[in-house]
Amino acid sequence: MAGMNRIDAPIKNRVRVILLNAALGPLDYRVPEGMTVLPGSIVMAPLGPRKVPGVVWDADSFPVDEIDAKKLRPLLELRDVPPLSAPLRRLIEWTARYYFASPASVLRMVLSSGAAFADNRPITEYRLNGNAPARMTPQREQALEKLADVQGTVSELAFRADVSIAVIRGLEKAGALDSSQASPFADIARPDPDFAKVDLSDNQNTVSETLIQAVQDSVFQPYLLDGVTGSGKTEVYFEAVAEALRQDKQTLVLLPEIALTEPFLDRFKARFGTEPVAWHSGLKQSDRKRNWRALADGDAKVVVGARSALFLPYKNLGLIIVDEAHEVSFKQEDGVRYHARDVAVMRGLYEKIPIVLASATPAIESRHQVEQGNYELLELPARFGAATLPEIQALDLTQDIPARGSWLAPTLINALEENLGKGEQSLLFLNRRGFAPLTLCRTCGHRINCPNCTAWMVEHRLTKRLACHHCGHVMPQPEKCPECSDEDSLVACGPGVERICDEVKMLFPQARTAIVTSDTIWSPAKAGEFVAQMEAGAIDIVVGTQLVTKGYHFPNLTLVGVVDADIGLEGGDLRAAERSFQQISQVAGRAGRAEKPGHVYVQTRMPGAAVIQALIKGDRDGFYDAETESRRAAAAPPFSRLAAVIVSSEDNAEAIEAARLIGQTAPKIEGFAVYGPAPAPLAMLRGRHRHRLLIHAHRSVELQDIMHEWLEKLEWPRAVRVGVDVDPYSFV
Ligand code: ADP
Ligand code: ZN
Repeated sequence: MAGMNRIDAPIKNRVRVILLNAALGPLDYRVPEGMTVLPGSIVMAPLGPRKVPGVVWDADSFPVDEIDAKKLRPLLELRDVPPLSAPLRRLIEWTARYYFASPASVLRMVLSSGAAFADNRPITEYRLNGNAPARMTPQREQALEKLADVQGTVSELAFRADVSIAVIRGLEKAGALDSSQASPFADIARPDPDFAKVDLSDNQNTVSETLIQAVQDSVFQPYLLDGVTGSGKTEVYFEAVAEALRQDKQTLVLLPEIALTEPFLDRFKARFGTEPVAWHSGLKQSDRKRNWRALADGDAKVVVGARSALFLPYKNLGLIIVDEAHEVSFKQEDGVRYHARDVAVMRGLYEKIPIVLASATPAIESRHQVEQGNYELLELPARFGAATLPEIQALDLTQDIPARGSWLAPTLINALEENLGKGEQSLLFLNRRGFAPLTLCRTCGHRINCPNCTAWMVEHRLTKRLACHHCGHVMPQPEKCPECSDEDSLVACGPGVERICDEVKMLFPQARTAIVTSDTIWSPAKAGEFVAQMEAGAIDIVVGTQLVTKGYHFPNLTLVGVVDADIGLEGGDLRAAERSFQQISQVAGRAGRAEKPGHVYVQTRMPGAAVIQALIKGDRDGFYDAETESRRAAAAPPFSRLAAVIVSSEDNAEAIEAARLIGQTAPKIEGFAVYGPAPAPLAMLRGRHRHRLLIHAHRSVELQDIMHEWLEKLEWPRAVRVGVDVDPYSFV
């Protein structure tokens, strides 16, 4: 590995380049006369007849077949953007090797905006001007409906409206769109560290001083900021952000959901006088480019984003915050399967900066790192001010029995009624989108499955469709059984949020309800609308999935009902109990966040289960200790390491053969065990048959070295895909 501290010097003559093409390894090129390239320089290089983007790399990082200097082709172009820094290059190498990804696919995340390859000409953007086109078509109608308030390039508008580019061009010709020129560079206001300082409590102050000192010292150190919901974790880490601003350094704040960015922007603005720069998949392409450029140039001082913000080329990063750090959504499940919390710590290491993992319910893995002395623990044990933690009460569904066709226990219904009478807000939590998870034929017992996946089609009554939550396949609600053709025989089984909301409306016709799931809150703007409605008191009862469990702060929300606490425990995977505990603690944390106390009801058929008992007794440490011990006893992570190998193909026989080959060639090494192959629980996904192997290794074993050596020697047909999932969170 190349040294990390040296100042990069120009490379003469011959350079090694990683092209943005996952199928190719690094290639060598000649530096033409008059071009000055550095390690990390972003270039265009010839590849056959094409011109492809790439990044100049350290010559000693990857081995390549040396070719004769005379045969080298010259680089075509040097892009006018800052070169990627040495710490970022080391992070890219680490990520690629640790997660079994190609360096090119990691680089794609770094350069994802395309800003490095865009010319700096102004971008032409369009928006509706209110004129209706003379001739209307269904596509035009759809575009008019979906593009209200949207501004973007032609292709962005086509994407947002789900119509072809020709439809948008047609609308422009018909005079229904106005155009404007947008600058490729952003004009970014600087957050003011002293704009609206808050007086911290003594305890908050102690923690914030530690973090301020860490930012000043600028050395690598992970902190676990462990504090109950409402204890002021955000206020405290804002002080560290303020210090980074004073030092003229950049801060990255990672959030688990893009829906959380909108409330965060407002809160940040209240404290620092201006919004931070946002980074997530919901941004317009032109904003993405501008923001990328601004953070690469160092003009964007604070960036808040989803996990993909982790790989951006910050000019001068001084602090990383991972908020709600226990969230499983930090684990990316497709493409490069990385865990943003872990990569964030590695980025902190290479950048030599502090990193703060904030959570009310830390991951067992993070607590273990504290125990090992790798992370420093900072605690905020109490809620701020008068707010107290809500009381949690279990409702035993075998005793407190819901009426026929109902999902809510009488006690919970009474509590909802009472809360409604007081004019306070309530939240019902069920982590299931749609109306019902299964549609069944009463006559023949047929279950409606996805044609592409081993999964049930989920009924979405709001859109009158059945949808597969794995591949996105949708079909209209069938009128008769597709198997036996019996009419009126299909029944919806089990509840989703839509069904619970229907029940609420039947019980309380006067109540104003809202459903909060990724189907209804699919953009930060939608999240903003929801927050505004809650704050204005325009909603009485919210029914939501895990999307409502985190981040939000609604002072008038005083009652929370967990509709089915047992769902999470069914999966039986390694983290099932931990995840249930975290999820229910988080959703409970939404109640009683201000002067009014909160109350939480948890519906369960297993009131004696350890998780439920820990929740009602408020015995967090007891739960964590017991869970940690059971992991230790089972030699499960974090006391060992896991990796999954997933082999898939449209041809099942081919997939089986490749999976067997991998199994048969497994190295026999002490402390390294290979289980399988076996058909995956999700045996078919998007039309591909899937087989899995699971690797269990001692922490002392060099898992990556062994697995790279093992897998790199093997070959399989082109149509077979072999993916490695290191530190897996999903076992399907
Ligand atoms: P957490 O991030 O731990 O959930 P927050 O930082 O969101 O906690 O704080 C919870 C609420 O209490 C917020 O409304 C916050 O503004 C308020 N709060 C926390 N600490 C203070 C303080 N020192 N002064 C004023 N308000 C505070
Ligand atoms: Zn499917």
